[in-house]
Amino acid sequence: MQPWLKVLIVVIFSVVATLLAMEALVLATGESIEAIYWAFAVLCPASIAAPVSYVLVRQAEVNKRLNQELLIVQRELLTQADRDHLTGVLNRAAFYRLASTYGEDAPASVLLADIDHFKAINDRYGHAAGDQALRLVANTLQAALRPDDLLGRVGGEEFAILLSGMPQALALAIAERARGAIAALSMRAADGSPIALSISIGVAGLSAGAPLDAVLAQADAAMYAAKRNGRNRVMVSD
Ligand code: GH3
Ligand code: MG
Ligand code: MG
Repeated sequence: MQPWLKVLIVVIFSVVATLLAMEALVLATGESIEAIYWAFAVLCPASIAAPVSYVLVRQAEVNKRLNQELLIVQRELLTQADRDHLTGVLNRAAFYRLASTYGEDAPASVLLADIDHFKAINDRYGHAAGDQALRLVANTLQAALRPDDLLGRVGGEEFAILLSGMPQALALAIAERARGAIAALSMRAADGSPIALSISIGVAGLSAGAPLDAVLAQADAAMYAAKRNGRNRVMVSD
């Protein structure tokens, strides 16, 4: 409703209420009231109700806008609290919280991806290049997933993924695609030298209600098997 309409309603209400009170007085006493007083009975409530209701209506509008802004900020803060500040993907706590409530009947798959020889990137090209590599890997992994999948940074250079409703065989194909996408990245250090990136991935199946920790441990074991077998590869938990 338009603010001026609210003010008008309040003014009409106050005038009508005053006139009714006057009319009741006339009926109760049998006295007649001169026209000038009837005019007062219109002017007085109207001149008080109009500015007062205008101020209140404006204040209510301001309060409403502030409340809406507060809700937006609150929502943003809640989202930020779940995000890893460097890469923008879910942080460890949020990934665990969301993944452990996976409630669909269809089995899901969990992937654990660890960047290969990441320490060497830091050592050779500096921490900023390492950070850049982390962002690049996170973005590339995110691009390989569907909107309902979960991606979290669960360790320094370690990412966990929950592929909802996806059996292990299909998850293997997604993991392979993600691995290939990372290996195909062409990152360059500040001095222009190419930085080769690759990840090793372990895949494990998650049935609804299964403890997430146990499944992540299986994916972790498969990931370490991938490391032992030469890195830049995907291995499925047996
Ligand atoms: P591997 O192939 O066996 O996984 O070797 P790696 O070098 O990747 O593994 P390692 O665990 O030895 O090293 C991980 C490194 O990740 C060490 C740590 O300094 C670095 N790291 C952890 N968090 C961050 C971060 O936020 N930024 C940067 N630049 N480096 C990080
Ligand atoms: Mg590593
Ligand atoms: Mg690691």
